[in-house]
Amino acid sequence: MQSHQLLQWRPDKHLVAAVLAVPKSHIPMTEMPDMDRCYLVAGLTMAGLTAEDIAERTGCSRRLVMTIRADPRTVMAAVASDDNFELERDLRTERCQHAATRGELAEVRRALERVTHQRDDMLDQLQVKGRVDSFPRCGHERVGYNVYSRNGVDYCRKCRREWDATKRKPRPSTRKNRRSVRNNGNILHNPGLGSAP
Ligand SMILES: [Zn+2]
Repeated sequence: MQSHQLLQWRPDKHLVAAVLAVPKSHIPMTEMPDMDRCYLVAGLTMAGLTAEDIAERTGCSRRLVMTIRADPRTVMAAVASDDNFELERDLRTERCQHAATRGELAEVRRALERVTHQRDDMLDQLQVKGRVDSFPRCGHERVGYNVYSRNGVDYCRKCRREWDATKRKPRPSTRKNRRSVRNNGNILHNPGLGSAP
């Protein structure tokens, strides 16, 4: 093969899979161009096939398979394929990390939005009333975002969230922990309370 032919050659990415898919390859090894032979033997060898298996599948002699295996181009194809595998694996890892980072970024944006909203609520109340009301028991601010009503009674959303978060955790093992869960805020003694809206 001339150098310009070599540079023009591109592997048929489905060749190895196609040969593996059937007991006998449609194109015998002897009718394949040199580079395809090398690429195929490298791929089948990496897939765990013995020289006998390859010879059987591709309708050629074991001797020819051994000759192709010894060809430096086959070694190069194997190395390239191995590198490719590693690159693909790294790429997958990078993609996973990227997705995780995007998720974190979205989380931070939501938190920022929430805090901005809270600040605006407080400033609004400060402007209208000259002070920011708070819940008597927990001291949390009693402004729009932090208030939810049930049966005409206002409750603290922060305390509700903390209570929910504590409830979701595995059951505390010590008596002290259990007590602190119950005494966590000003709405926790109401057993009939549903979920926060
Ligand atoms: Zn509270």
